[in-house]
Amino acid sequence: MALREIFPRLISEARAKSSTVGVVSIDIDQFKAINDAFGHAVGDEVLKSTARRLQHLAPPGGVVARLDGDSFVVLTPGLDQPRVAELANRVISSLAEPFDLDSGTRVFISASVGYAIGLRDGDTGDELIRRAELAVERAKADTTEAAVAFVPDMDAEVTYRLMLEAALRASIADDTIDVVYQPLMDPSGRQLLGVEALARWTDRELGAISPDIFIPLAEEAGLIQNIGELVLRRAVADARAWPDVNIAVNVSASQIHHGNVVEVVRDVLSRAHFPAERLEIEITESVLLADEKRANEQMRGLQALGVRIALDDFGTGYSSLQYLRRFGFDKLKIDRSFIDGAGEPLGSSVVLASIIKLGHDLGLTITAEGVETEEQRRWLQLAGCHQLQGYLFSRPLTAAQLTAFIAARRADTAVAS
Ligand code: C2E
Ligand code: CA
Ligand code: CA
Repeated sequence: MALREIFPRLISEARAKSSTVGVVSIDIDQFKAINDAFGHAVGDEVLKSTARRLQHLAPPGGVVARLDGDSFVVLTPGLDQPRVAELANRVISSLAEPFDLDSGTRVFISASVGYAIGLRDGDTGDELIRRAELAVERAKADTTEAAVAFVPDMDAEVTYRLMLEAALRASIADDTIDVVYQPLMDPSGRQLLGVEALARWTDRELGAISPDIFIPLAEEAGLIQNIGELVLRRAVADARAWPDVNIAVNVSASQIHHGNVVEVVRDVLSRAHFPAERLEIEITESVLLADEKRANEQMRGLQALGVRIALDDFGTGYSSLQYLRRFGFDKLKIDRSFIDGAGEPLGSSVVLASIIKLGHDLGLTITAEGVETEEQRRWLQLAGCHQLQGYLFSRPLTAAQLTAFIAARRADTAVAS
């Protein structure tokens, strides 16, 4: 029987008896990886065994259903909150036991579990499932080992997100996303080599929103292509005022995987008559994890235009040295979390030194980001970094401020010589 028919019955029973109906939502973590690693036949076996284990845990009168792909729901009529919570946590530990499949394969999985309780958290099946799934999302985000209960805050968060997304959409349409530029200096810290273009969003009502919030939001909402293109156009236009300065633009994974970034870059460069050699594209490792073949094609396409490619935030992800070799990067940007260690006697400075050495061996240009102190600068200079970026030299600047920054430096050099 379909959930659509079961729910109204369970809900009216709960209402009649002043009782409850728990909705436990279960999502297998990274199920795609299991399919990829073991094949679909094994994936299907895992899903079947999962359903059997859930069936086993369900209370009398309970219902187990598969929603889509790798998510399940268990309906628990008559259980009060503590017992729904207990069952939800038992689901987690039960699914953490290894799966010894008929095929002889042993597979380990983990699941994220959330729950909502009718009629307290909703009085329709759709509403209860939606809210149990919000709790699952929270469980995933918190990487907690425990089941998560729905709380009304989660609804408020969704409402806030939707509001933020609408505001971002409007700002893109009004062309009110700004671009600022952070200098990249030579290791002495005196000469400007290039700038990194960074998006800024100040909403008329909400005020300034951090890129750490609006960039992921734009990625999820499918707006990152627009922002990426806008930043690139603006940067190329602004950079005409700074003839010897290279510009670096961030490109996120979904632009590589779902967009036509090669055509966009070619189009922007040719319209502006901007030399490709002055443009760098920064991408993060996450780009390479999703679809290697496509990532490779897009990178080759960009390099064929004459654009250089930097691996951004190196050291934060898998930091596979394989990637560096296999994907033919031109440049390595060491994440600022490592720079704190520059000059420290032990530990992190050893790692940092070996990353720099590796970059040298591979013939890459090495940039250190997040340089904040003179001690760090000196250490990084001696270690052989080619470019430095950070608050020590400058915060990100508006186009007008950067023009002034360049003029001031020129005046300095004139006095010095
Ligand atoms: P990112 O690409 O790693 O950019 C460098 C970030 O480090 C910038 O943060 C910059 O302001 C900050 N930073 C630079 N020097 C220092 C320092 O010395 N100390 C500290 N504590 N921070 C420093 P921002 O502008 O907030 O950007 C955050 C992230 O948002 C960027 O990290 C990038 O991943 C993303 N982002 C920004 N603009 C764009 C864009 O146009 N497109 C895409 N796809 N992502 C963007
Ligand atoms: Ca960057
Ligand atoms: Ca970075």
